[in-house]
Formats: sequence, structure tokens, C-alpha cells
Amino acid sequence: MPPRPLTLADARAALQRVWGYDDFRGLQAGAIETLLAGGDAIVLMPTGGGKSLTYQLPSLLRPGVGLVVSPLIALMQDQVEALRLLGVRAAFLNSTQDPQEAAATEQAALAGELDLLYVAPERLLSPRFAPLLQRLPLALIAIDEAHCVSQWGHDFRPEYLGLGVLAERCPGVPRIALTATADAQTRQEMREKLRLDAAHEFVASFDRPNIRYLITDKRDARAQLLQLLRAEHAGDAGIVYRQSRRAVEQTAEALVRAGLTALPYHAGLSNDLRAQHQRRFLREEGVVMVATIAFGMGIDKPDVRFVAHLDVPRSLEGYYQETGRAGRDAQSATAFMTYGLSDVLQMQRMVEAGGASDAVKLVERRKLDALLGFCESASCRREVLLGYFGEAYQGPCGACDRCLAPVEQFDGTEFAQMALSAVVRTGQRFGSGHLIDVLRGSLTPRVAQWGHDALPTFGVGMAQSEQGWRSVLRQLVAAGLLQGGGEHPGSLRLGLGAAALLKGERRFPMQREPVSLPLTSVPKGGRRSRTGRQVEPVREPPSSAAEARFERLRAWRAAEARERGVPAYTIFHDATLRAMAEQQPHSERQLAAIHGVGAAKLERYAAAVLRLLGERAVA
Ligand code: ADP
Ligand code: ZN
Repeated sequence: MPPRPLTLADARAALQRVWGYDDFRGLQAGAIETLLAGGDAIVLMPTGGGKSLTYQLPSLLRPGVGLVVSPLIALMQDQVEALRLLGVRAAFLNSTQDPQEAAATEQAALAGELDLLYVAPERLLSPRFAPLLQRLPLALIAIDEAHCVSQWGHDFRPEYLGLGVLAERCPGVPRIALTATADAQTRQEMREKLRLDAAHEFVASFDRPNIRYLITDKRDARAQLLQLLRAEHAGDAGIVYRQSRRAVEQTAEALVRAGLTALPYHAGLSNDLRAQHQRRFLREEGVVMVATIAFGMGIDKPDVRFVAHLDVPRSLEGYYQETGRAGRDAQSATAFMTYGLSDVLQMQRMVEAGGASDAVKLVERRKLDALLGFCESASCRREVLLGYFGEAYQGPCGACDRCLAPVEQFDGTEFAQMALSAVVRTGQRFGSGHLIDVLRGSLTPRVAQWGHDALPTFGVGMAQSEQGWRSVLRQLVAAGLLQGGGEHPGSLRLGLGAAALLKGERRFPMQREPVSLPLTSVPKGGRRSRTGRQVEPVREPPSSAAEARFERLRAWRAAEARERGVPAYTIFHDATLRAMAEQQPHSERQLAAIHGVGAAKLERYAAAVLRLLGERAVA
């Protein structure tokens, strides 16, 4: 008799038994149903949306092993450990193993002893692997981080292009490609290059309602960051992105001096040191990783509470992905950015100076314009960000700097004319510092040397502060009315449309920079997203007894994690520990009802947790 077809009810039962979760979220159910029925799927969900479950669960239910292609060798081990703690039979094959270990894993897979097998793409495609691929009964093939197939994207991995052959090498095996990259072009490329012609698409809303977006004018980036961390994120884990290695080192040192646990991460550090810092970030609590964009893909630490960009990111795609690493656990988190005139000029230089073809430069210019448009926009940040990915979202969102403290717009035509005229009269060969000296009437040796104190523009802008002028110049550059990249390094010259503005034929609306960020007035979480996904409500301050229980559980979890060599959150998430501390279950049955407590963890940890909860706090 042929086996009964698998249904969503089977899947839900497994979700509750293995993971201890009540029900599917968003589009998970649809994707899972497709795979159970043998179909292909393309899944686009934001980070933290719950992508992994969509292939892990069908792998458990369907006969054979689920093959997971993941580019992130360094993280495979953590993923596999987390699954094993759930009682799932998982293993990985990659270059970090010795041959015996790999052979044993292959044997286990062939013997039907595995539910999930993680493989690096180059290994999967190697001739050595081909015979195994032929003989292995496969439940499904999952291609994680599938945007790596896109040559236009910033995570392009050539080996991903080869994965299309799986369509013919493994006919009849359902395939699923997953990514958190939202744009339609990437989606199209995934479909074509991975040969997922008939795949169903599951595109979730990319709104991350628990992330609060704060973007501010750069004054003293490190001091601005510290102010935010002290006010809102004391003791929290987070990521700080910087553009250069040097800036990474300096920022990490500054944070350490300020008493934080901060570690640098960039391509100039040895592999060992990078791996060590990544491990500490994942395993210890409250570590701040200061990094270039070399860091972050695949990091599935759920309790990253903030992501800060102290320099402008490369593109909105990059910004979205990087900030998306905050708050995967759906609890409130912050995305913070400082950006200034020099960032904007440097980005433009990088686009123009790169050796790319004209076609590529055009794409890069458009991406940069979109990014600057986002930074300079007076509208809700979420609205602009999601709009860029084609999602119609209507602000105010109530959780971005624009919604919390609307900017004042004013007619900046006169300021713009002063600035443009200073540029023209000094011969379009000076940078912002000198231009501001001229505008503000500072008689520096350089001003005197060039006789610029005799210009009619000298001192016309005395009423505006230096910072104010920087902001004016930045807004002009972002609008394309001024541009860098002239023959004198750092100089500004007129851009398209500047002449019309100088002649008074067009106006220039400007924004007054708020002096500081609206930090304390920010509601922390507790918002229901428009897409219906529940954001963790603001917690009542827990009673001190519950707090003490939570701390005891945390200490126990830390010890347990150390002993097993796994990150603490793979044992239980914070939210699960909190629920335990607050509800104080007295029996296994009560404990099993808590979100995030599945069968395997119940068996392994019930005794320890119940004992801890039963203990009286020792004074
Ligand atoms: P992604 O891979 O999309 O970034 P993950 O698969 O890591 O997201 O899931 C994010 C978090 O949400 C994980 O901690 C996961 O255990 C949790 N999660 C996933 N699905 C559910 C669900 N149906 N109910 C509750 N929690 C879930
Ligand atoms: Zn908003």
C-alpha cells in the first residue's frame, strides 16, 4: 500500500513536538505544503522570518535526507548542533573535517540515519560527491542564501552558478531556494540560474516591525554611537559596521576604552582571529562586533539588539541585509546610521573610480542615488526602504527617526545659492572645509593666500554654523547639484541643475537637521505590524523574584552551553527562559507548554530547569 500523502497537519504536529512552537508563521505553511507535495519553492522572507523551518521540517517528514547547500562553512557546525539539541539527526560535510569523519557522515547518510545533511556548494558539485548524490535517497534539496547566484548582488559566489545542474541530476527531488534579499531581479536570477522554472514563489512582507530605524547627521560618530548605547543598549550584543579596516580597529578600541566588550572583524585579520572573534560574539553575551561588511552573512544569533552603520552602507540592499541581522527574535532592536558629507563624496568616488564597465557604473550610480534618497528623505524611513523593494507601505510607522521627530523642511534656496556661488567664485577647485571658511568669513592663511577674503561671497553665511553648512553641502551633493570627483582631490564642482538654481529658476527645499536623535521618546516594541506579524509586546517589568529566577536560568544556560561548546541560544532563547521564570512551571507537562520547549529539550533539561525553578533564591 502506498504511504498516505503527508499533510500540513502532520507538519504542524512535528512543529509542536520537535520545536515546541504552536503554529506556523506567515508563509511557512504554504512553502512546507508545496515541498511535502513534491513541488519546488522560492522563498523570500526577511531575516528572522523563519526560513530554516520551511526545509528542516519537510526533511524530517519525507523519506530520505534533506540536503542543505549553505555557503557558510564556519556556521554549519552551530546549525547542526542546534538541530541535534532538538533531537534532529543532522550532520555536515565540509573541508574542515578529516577524511574519516567525512566518510562516517557519508555512511550514515546512505544508511538512512540522517534527516539533514549540510554541504558546501563546491563540495556538492565536486566529482567526488557525484556517486554519493546518485545513491543517496533525498527528501529535498534546499539552497540557502540563494541570492549568492546573482552576479549583480554583493554576495555573488561563482560556485552557486553550478547548482542549476541539480535539476537534472536529481529529477523528482523537490528543491527550495531561500534568501532574505528582496528585489525582483535577484528573484528572477534565482529562478533562471537554479533552474527552478516551475517553482512556487513565497514572498513575505519585508517589513521588520520590531526594528527601529534611526539615521542621523554624522558629527562625532563614535560619541554618537556611545550615547545611543549608554541610553538604550547597555550590556546588549550588537554589530557596528565601518567601511575601512582602520576605522574598525579604532572604533573597537574606543568602545573597549568606554568599558564595552568589543571585538574587531575584517579581512586583514588572520583566519584564526576572525573565527575566534566570531565564536565569542556567538557564544558570549553582550559582545559588540565592530566589523567591515566581511562579517555577518548567515549569522543567526537571535538576540542582536542593535546594528549601527557609522559610515554610509554601499547600497540599500546592503543596508537592509545588514540591519536585518538585528532582532531576529522579534524583540525590539535598533538600526542606527550616521552619515555625512565625506561619506557621500567617498561613495561617489568609489563608483566613478572603479574599473567597472559603463553599464555596471550606471547600475551602481542608481543604487547610490537610491541610498542617498533614503538618507535625505523627509518621509518615514520604513516607507522609503520598503518602497525601494517594491512594497507599498504607508507610513508613519511610529518607529523611525522621521516618524518620531518629523524634520522641519524650509526653503533653502538662498543657502544653496550662497554655497553654489562660493564654489563658482573659488574656481570649482576647493573642498568643503575651505568653502565653509569662505562662507563663514574665516580668514585662514589659505583664504588669505588665494585672496578669497575679497570675494563677494566671503562671510555671507556667517549666520549658519559650520555643521549647518556641512549639512547644506551634503544635501546639495545628494541632490546632484554639487559633485565631487574633479581634478583636485576632494574638490566640489557644480552639477546638473546648479545653473538654474543660481539663476533663481528653481527652488531648493532643505531639511533642518535635528540636533539629537529622539531616543527616549521611542516606544520599544509593542507595535502590531501591518502584515499581522505579532511583535513582542513591551514586557511588564518582571517582579524581582521572577528576575532572580531568570538570572539563575541564564547562569545555568551559560554553563550548559560552555560544556557542550554551543551558543547559549541554541539551548533556549531568552524569551523561553523569561517565560519559564515568569510562569514558574512545576511539572513537565507545564514546562512542555512553554513556547520553545520541544520533546528533546524537555527530556534533556526538564529535571534541571524544574529543580532550578523550585529552588529558593539564596541570599
Ligand atoms: P531566517 O532563517 O528566516 O532568518 P530562522 O529560521 O533563523 O529565520 O528563524 C528565526 C527565529 O524564529 C528562530 O529562532 C526560529 O526558531 C523562530 N521560528 C521560526 N518559525 C517559528 C514559528 N512558526 N513559531 C515560533 N518561532 C519560530
Ligand atoms: Zn517611520
